[in-house]
Amino acid sequence: MKLEKLGLRSRFDFVLHLPLRYEDETVLTDPQKAPPGRPVQVEARVLRAEVAYRPRRQLIVHAEGLALRFFNFWGSQLKQFQRAADAGRLVRAFGEVRAGFFGAEMAHPRYQFVDADTPLPEALTPIYPATAGVSQKEIRTAVLRALDEAPIGDTLPAAVRKRYQLDGFAESVEVLHRPRPGADIEALTDHTHPAWQRMIFDELLAQQLSMRFAYRRRRARNAPALPGHGPLLGSFVKNLPFSLTKAQKRVIEEVLADLREPHPMQRLLQGDVGSGKTIVAAMACLTAADSGWQAAVMAPTEILAEQHWRKFNDWFAPLGVPLAWLHGGLAQQEKRSALRRLKSGECAIVVGTHALLQKGVEFARLGLAVIDEQHRFGVQQRVMLRRKAEEAVPHQLMMSATPIPRTLSMTHYADLDVSLIDEMPPGRRPVLTRVFSAARRGEVLSRIRDACAGGQQAYWVCPVIEESKDKDVQTAIDTHARLQGELKKLRVGLLHGRMDAPAKASAIDAFRGGRTHLLVCTTVIEVGVDVPNASLMVIESAERFGLAQLHQLRGRVGRGERDSVCILLFGESLQGNAAARLRIILRTNDGFEIAQRDLELRGPGEVIGERQSGSPLFRFADLARDTDLVVAALEAANDLIERNPDAARAHVERWLGSREELTHT
Ligand code: ADP
Ligand code: MG
Repeated sequence: MKLEKLGLRSRFDFVLHLPLRYEDETVLTDPQKAPPGRPVQVEARVLRAEVAYRPRRQLIVHAEGLALRFFNFWGSQLKQFQRAADAGRLVRAFGEVRAGFFGAEMAHPRYQFVDADTPLPEALTPIYPATAGVSQKEIRTAVLRALDEAPIGDTLPAAVRKRYQLDGFAESVEVLHRPRPGADIEALTDHTHPAWQRMIFDELLAQQLSMRFAYRRRRARNAPALPGHGPLLGSFVKNLPFSLTKAQKRVIEEVLADLREPHPMQRLLQGDVGSGKTIVAAMACLTAADSGWQAAVMAPTEILAEQHWRKFNDWFAPLGVPLAWLHGGLAQQEKRSALRRLKSGECAIVVGTHALLQKGVEFARLGLAVIDEQHRFGVQQRVMLRRKAEEAVPHQLMMSATPIPRTLSMTHYADLDVSLIDEMPPGRRPVLTRVFSAARRGEVLSRIRDACAGGQQAYWVCPVIEESKDKDVQTAIDTHARLQGELKKLRVGLLHGRMDAPAKASAIDAFRGGRTHLLVCTTVIEVGVDVPNASLMVIESAERFGLAQLHQLRGRVGRGERDSVCILLFGESLQGNAAARLRIILRTNDGFEIAQRDLELRGPGEVIGERQSGSPLFRFADLARDTDLVVAALEAANDLIERNPDAARAHVERWLGSREELTHT
């Protein structure tokens, strides 16, 4: 059946196949007075029709004060119009009027023949999402049939409707499919109409409910309680060279409270770049070790994993905690020994890359899995790490490097508990950001010379070239050669994604140790790299980067005592959206604000990075626009699950049917 191509099967698929927009065929416009660029309905007496051949074959219909042109037409259409002309009938056409050779003209309008007394429709005409080979009329007929089949019940209890001032479901779909005469076309078009608000609320609620159900199912399983009665955590905190921020303390309390429970923690840790998430992960790992269980920390890149490994080693080796480090570049013998220590339980904490997921990796007692940059891993990989536990489901702590706007976090992570570090460690100085045209490269070079002469270090980030990763790498190689030529007195290092692990490690080592002054790199440094002495960053063709990415990159400087500067170089011209994006980066250092603006400019798929490959999460809701409804739906979901689980299930069933919501299992 053709309509199945549109995903329309059940009755509610049809009922919820809502119009994209509406056309107003209730009024007629004088073709001479039609506003430009807006479709209108006109009516005129048909005079004659002819086929012209220049500049290309076309059907031209001459009517009183109006011409219609069709470039694709059937012979029968010519005859139709000729007959209408002979009978002196009127053509009623819908489309944009333009000034053409014959005066007012319309190209390819939708049209019908009418007589002087044919009434105008009284209601707006809905236009549905369609697909090739299915006409609006067929869709409309099928939708209205579904609508009229039987009375439609409301899945929301009256109390919920009243509390959030929502219209009834049946009434709302009726308005959307069959708007009454005089309905507010603007409100229907921009989705502010109460009928639309009801649909958006329902959709958001269904998503919340389904994710909360998934959360509850997972939470019902058994996990080892990790009370952390050992001495490690206490000694660790005592030895820290700084004191934890209030936000860190709060978040750690949230994590430790989860770990004490005999059910798996499913927590997402959010915080801006540099807010100090690693230490929270470290303390969770120590708590596992203190309770006699193992912890695994998985990071998406070698660079990031190594960074964690170094830190953990610095922090934990003095406490005598047995650690392991697992990555792709490990020699056979080292690897075998690490695997043996994990399996025997001798090793308490392991840090690694995807290598942790390999078959030979087995744990004696895995109690906690930490996943850094969780959005870089697929659901499958997160499940694989969890399955490494033999006895019970381990606790899970996920971390996200990029701040996520509130509405996005409330919807996408509704199946997780979220902890937020909303405060920076003291003493951080905001990075000063400047935008330069690439023509001022000379000036930028002398800034680098000055900074490095004063003992500081700098990054030079090369642009991402969309078509090809090889080109990225080539650009980095070329830029490195060019800069080394231009900056003869400095030692210039190179780091890109195609280097093998030891080469990468030695490039970072040289930079960290101050043996190279300037590091030319691709976005491989985007996450994790932490070299406090680097205080200058140049980003070439900054207009090509996403906002969140620029913010992440910029977060690599400003980690030391000195004032730091980030210079955004842009190509020849900077227009529209690109200029708007760079202005945002210039104006604020607040990752959450940047993420919110990114959401408005690019939409959720781009911001969240994950899941965008599949279908979008929402058909009707817009997370940048519907903030209030997101908050209301979340509150209502929690309430409904508590008080009226049957209604909650019925609601999910109507909206999602058999479709499972993708969750963070
Ligand atoms: P991110 O949240 O981006 O992962 P990190 O955990 O890498 O941030 O922390 C950034 C830097 O701040 C690290 O060098 C870390 O040691 C330091 N840091 C973390 N917490 C504090 C604190 N409370 N006071 C001072 N420095 C801190
Ligand atoms: Mg981090």
